[in-house]
Amino acid sequence: MSEPTPPPTPDATPAAPAPAAPPFELSARATAAWVAVAVTVTAALLLLMGRSPWCSCGSPVPWSFVVQSKHNSQHLLDPYAFTHVLHGVLFCAGTWLALGRWLGPRARLLVALSLEGGWELLENSSWVIERYRAETISLDYYGDSVINSLADVGACALGFYLARRLPLWGSLVLFCAFELLLLLWIKDSLTLNVIMLVYPLEAIRSWQSGG
Ligand SMILES: [Zn+2]
Repeated sequence: MSEPTPPPTPDATPAAPAPAAPPFELSARATAAWVAVAVTVTAALLLLMGRSPWCSCGSPVPWSFVVQSKHNSQHLLDPYAFTHVLHGVLFCAGTWLALGRWLGPRARLLVALSLEGGWELLENSSWVIERYRAETISLDYYGDSVINSLADVGACALGFYLARRLPLWGSLVLFCAFELLLLLWIKDSLTLNVIMLVYPLEAIRSWQSGG
């Protein structure tokens, strides 16, 4: 005859830690509304800063792939759109690391697009424009058109989306592939862009200008 099994004691195992509060998340609808607000505010501020809505050439062609021309950053798409996709990848990683505990993906997308809109405003401030013109190959750079800036914000959203969907190695491959593509295509890239803005190097400038 076996002894009766003792009833399980509730305190036998240490209590599990209380589950963390779920991160704050926006509904898809609220996200769309806030993105619309952020885009509208960015566009209005850029117009107030004196940026033209579209390229002064007036051509309706939506892209311009010749970097050293007055059309660069004036039409909807140009090679630098790729750098803005990479902004989205970096913002996805950065907001996940810094805010992932508190904010869900849609809320972090809104943070990323606000940062990108802020970057567009800074990038089109006269201080940064003069610096680009003085230190980089962007001799014809007079700031982005408003449509181009908004497309850049869209490219950032695309990058954020891709980084969310891809595994980490996929994002890394995407990042390296775009950087390499831009180096071969226009002798520029996000990394060079940042270096030349922060700490201009003569060697890079002479390579970029074909010397
Ligand atoms: Zn043009």
